[in-house]
Amino acid sequence: MNQKDIFLRELLSNSNDALERNRLNQLTEGSYVNLDGWQGNITIEARKAADGQSGQLVIRDTGIGMTKSELARNLGTIAKSGTSEFLNKADNSSASGGIEGSNLIGQFGRWILIDKRIAGRVSLVILYPGLGFYSTFLVSPSVKVSSIPPGTAEDPHPTQYTFESNASGDEFTVYADPRGNSLLKHGPCGTEVVLDIEAGSGNEWVLDNNKLEELVEKHSQFSTNFPIYLRKSVE
Ligand code: ADP
Ligand code: MG
Repeated sequence: MNQKDIFLRELLSNSNDALERNRLNQLTEGSYVNLDGWQGNITIEARKAADGQSGQLVIRDTGIGMTKSELARNLGTIAKSGTSEFLNKADNSSASGGIEGSNLIGQFGRWILIDKRIAGRVSLVILYPGLGFYSTFLVSPSVKVSSIPPGTAEDPHPTQYTFESNASGDEFTVYADPRGNSLLKHGPCGTEVVLDIEAGSGNEWVLDNNKLEELVEKHSQFSTNFPIYLRKSVE
């Protein structure tokens, strides 16, 4: 069973949280200045490279977004936890039978079920907390998150920033997005997650539109209250 696809559930759930926060902001006329006409949605797009095997998966939402410091605080700190180490082992284990003799056997909501064997015989079933954003490294060696929050009275025109981290997880950078505030084409604020998918990595399925459609259905059924668009490029 392929458990790596939980990365999509985690990203959809983060987008949904960010969209819900925006809906609340809009209803309560909070301190944001440009949410009139805001529409909440999520767009997923697989961009295949010419080789048809590698490319990028893009997941974009029109949610609350993050400031420069929020990108570092919300995404950067997880990099220092044991999560990435756990993921490396989980990844290596799928073929060989386990996280040091354990096996990723299932998942319930935010919990991941591990079957751990002691001395190869006694089997312990352990529940791990969900991996959140860092589950993206199950399928991608490098992940970028670009984000822009809505304007406020103090800062009516915020800048879009990009967070970049690699699977080793101990380093990240946050910089002004060289593309400018590109997310404003899609809404007054939002976030875009870009996963690099490598040829020969075993993760090429992430770029398959049929598979994506199936996964979106599977992972959004009970957790997403906003439209999800699967954008297919003409080949
Ligand atoms: P959790 O969702 O349990 O808080 P995650 O690792 O999934 O943990 O995400 C960490 C944090 O990053 C979130 O709490 C949120 O503040 C921020 N975040 C992640 N994705 C988004 C997004 N699409 N839009 C806005 N904030 C986000
Ligand atoms: Mg989350």
